[in-house]
Amino acid sequence: MFDSMSISQVSITNMGMFYKFTKKENTFICTYCNGELLSRLGFTKQEDVIGRSLLDIFPAAIADMKSKYCQQAWEGQFIQYEVTFNDIYYAAFLSPVFDGGNVVEVVGSSINISERKKTENEMVQAKEEAEKANMAKSDFLSKMSHELRTPLNGILGFAQLLELDESLNEQQQDFVQEILNGGSHLLKLINEILDISRIETGKLKVSIEEVHLQNVMDECISIVQPLANKKNISIDKQLQQGQNVLVLADRMRLKQVLLNLLDNAIKYNREGGKVTICCRLDGDAQVIHIVDTGIGFSAEEYSKVFVPFYRIEGTKEAGTGIGLALVKQLVHLMGGKISVTSRKGKGSDFYFCLPIPNDFKTVLRLDESIEPSAENERKTDNYCLLYIEDNESNLHLVSSIIKSQPSYTLLSARTGKEGLEIARNEKIDLILLDLNLPDIDGYEVFDRLKANEQTKDIVIIGVSANAMPQDIQHTLDKGFDNYLTKPLNVKEFLSIISETLNSTINQNIPDHKILSTGPYGEDAVSAKMLQLSLKDLKKIKEKKYKAAIAMHYTENDWSRSQVEGVKAAFEKMGIEVVAVTDAQFSWEQQVTDIETILSKKPDIIVSIPVDPIATASAYQRAAGAGVKLVFIDNIPKGLQYGKDYVSVVSADNYGNGIESAHIMAEKLGGKGKVGVIYHNADFFATKQRTEAFENTIRENYPDIQIVAREGIASPKDGEKVTSAMLNKHQDLNGIFVVWDVPAEGAMAAALTVGRNDLVITTIDLGTNVALEIARDGLIKGLGAQLPYQQGVAEAILAGYALLEKQAPAYVAVPALKVTKENILDAWKLVYNQEAPDIIQSAIK
Ligand code: ADP
Repeated sequence: MFDSMSISQVSITNMGMFYKFTKKENTFICTYCNGELLSRLGFTKQEDVIGRSLLDIFPAAIADMKSKYCQQAWEGQFIQYEVTFNDIYYAAFLSPVFDGGNVVEVVGSSINISERKKTENEMVQAKEEAEKANMAKSDFLSKMSHELRTPLNGILGFAQLLELDESLNEQQQDFVQEILNGGSHLLKLINEILDISRIETGKLKVSIEEVHLQNVMDECISIVQPLANKKNISIDKQLQQGQNVLVLADRMRLKQVLLNLLDNAIKYNREGGKVTICCRLDGDAQVIHIVDTGIGFSAEEYSKVFVPFYRIEGTKEAGTGIGLALVKQLVHLMGGKISVTSRKGKGSDFYFCLPIPNDFKTVLRLDESIEPSAENERKTDNYCLLYIEDNESNLHLVSSIIKSQPSYTLLSARTGKEGLEIARNEKIDLILLDLNLPDIDGYEVFDRLKANEQTKDIVIIGVSANAMPQDIQHTLDKGFDNYLTKPLNVKEFLSIISETLNSTINQNIPDHKILSTGPYGEDAVSAKMLQLSLKDLKKIKEKKYKAAIAMHYTENDWSRSQVEGVKAAFEKMGIEVVAVTDAQFSWEQQVTDIETILSKKPDIIVSIPVDPIATASAYQRAAGAGVKLVFIDNIPKGLQYGKDYVSVVSADNYGNGIESAHIMAEKLGGKGKVGVIYHNADFFATKQRTEAFENTIRENYPDIQIVAREGIASPKDGEKVTSAMLNKHQDLNGIFVVWDVPAEGAMAAALTVGRNDLVITTIDLGTNVALEIARDGLIKGLGAQLPYQQGVAEAILAGYALLEKQAPAYVAVPALKVTKENILDAWKLVYNQEAPDIIQSAIK
């Protein structure tokens, strides 16, 4: 042992000392001592220490302390301590030396650590000073900001008063705006600095409470919306309505965080860009994302953007670089964290998390499982959902989502067999049906549900991991009401259920303003506004109503499509269509048709009167027998809205006339001579078209003159009347024809006299005119009605009457402009199916 010590002794003695102590009675006597430190401590020769007790060597207090450490070593411990003596800071190490199990002496070494200690002390001091200075700076900033705010508020206030002064000239107004802009910029900066310095000095306190994210978000969006509008940026909030997204936060500070992030997401976005707000649950925290489609930045900047006053090089937009620093501090203060991911030129995703309330956590932890039981009785005004699914985790997820929706109750079944049984015994509104069940195939379950009287009307949504479009289509074609793909997306899941439950018959049509008025000048309600809920449908279905459709004619595309729309919607309402009649344009025939229909005792008649006067008494009889009448395009004379009939539905004929006029003007380059071929009958629908065409040309196109007007009584007259018109006005550049069939005649007449340059526009998308438009022939475009959608609207209105719900007097389906450019899409909308091959190939 001594050998090894003597090796270390070499280095120790250079910078410290080496010594030994032995114990005599109660005192420790030094028996050996050597090393440079000895003289540094003030002992000039070895005899100053060797042979002497600790108390003889050191002052009482130090001797006492050293005695204690030596005693501990004497008891067998290894000791280390630090001490100052005569301004020397040194570290001492004591070790016991054993002989036959007893400690016989204590050996020690000490190293001078004064230099290291000095540096350490300096560092601590520097840090303390820096902290003090920082506090002083923050305190100073806090005080200054406060002091600056007061006069600034005065400046802004008076500038705002000046702004209201109408006697200011334009230049003075500009100056005032400059003061206001500069002032509010400065105020924002001061406020943010004030907040940051308050946080740093620990003066900013947050008051944490449960906050409804939805409400705060809505408030923030309404504040930044004008800013977004200016840049044409859409804000898409993807939070479920009514879903309780609760977080623990300081309401005001959370608002400040969101406003700052939204402000940046708009400011650093591109013209016409998008800002998406969404949130997701991550463990016990809610993560809120603000995603933009803006300029973005590279990964090296991720942490830098949160540093106070840092702005990415080349940032053009005005700013101070303080906003994100403050946001970060505020989020921390509320117990959360903020991060960002971004891509240059693509956009950024700033996201932060906040804790969620405790009781909310338990709901989301899905502690309870839901069992189908008699206790799950239906509450009034509730929808009862049944989820047939064998996968436990999916069941768990869905039951937790449903728990947050007070108006839904969920039952569950693990097998097809169990599902069928529950569906038969409980009152179920909607079934979520997994298509891959362990016992019976999902499609088979569907067929059995539809085959059973008690379950055939239940709405069914297919659920599958299969997201292939053709499989989804196959499922929908089978009659499923909707389709959901796994993994389920909570937002999509809820919106599909709500969509399926609430707007079972929905009108997928353009949102255009309606320009027509009704036959008696009634204001129009758009067909888009009509809706029957699942509950409405169920009530109607229970009564097993009967309906008839009395048409003027059924052999054209328009009529066929009308009838299809009415029938499809009636089918969803469980209404049996007992007759569809075709009067072949003859009022006598139509009167007979109505008599025949009445003998079948229908509850509803949907009809287009051939002649509003001659057929009136027949309809009057039907009304007297209690039949609900919904009219298409015209009302028989003398019948009263609300008493004798439910409503009248037409296309927006006026709107279509306008479209037809605009197309004509476009094709003529804004100048020329045109003729008008109108319907010579007291029919408000065709009258409004012609009126709209003529008014639009007169009011908008001063260089286009209407030089000829001729009426037709029947579509057959189109060719004859056009021939005469072209003969008389050889310089005509265009002709408007009031609907498509006579327009075909007009085209034939023009071609006969070699007028291949004549521009024809019309109304109604028949196959022949569509083909002509696709081929870029004489017919250049038209305003189209949406007959299928019109049919659906008529059926919904019949439903309103059966439910004794107030129906509007006049409903119109929006107008649609059709030219070669959009003909295929337009066809789909008009007829609810793809355009025929012949049109598809003509367009190529
Ligand atoms: P300011 O916007 O006033 O400059 P911030 O602290 O809010 O200050 O942002 C700091 C910097 O981070 C901005 O200057 C900008 O360069 C960058 N930045 C912030 N948000 C976005 C964003 N959504 N997209 C792109 N860059 C951003």
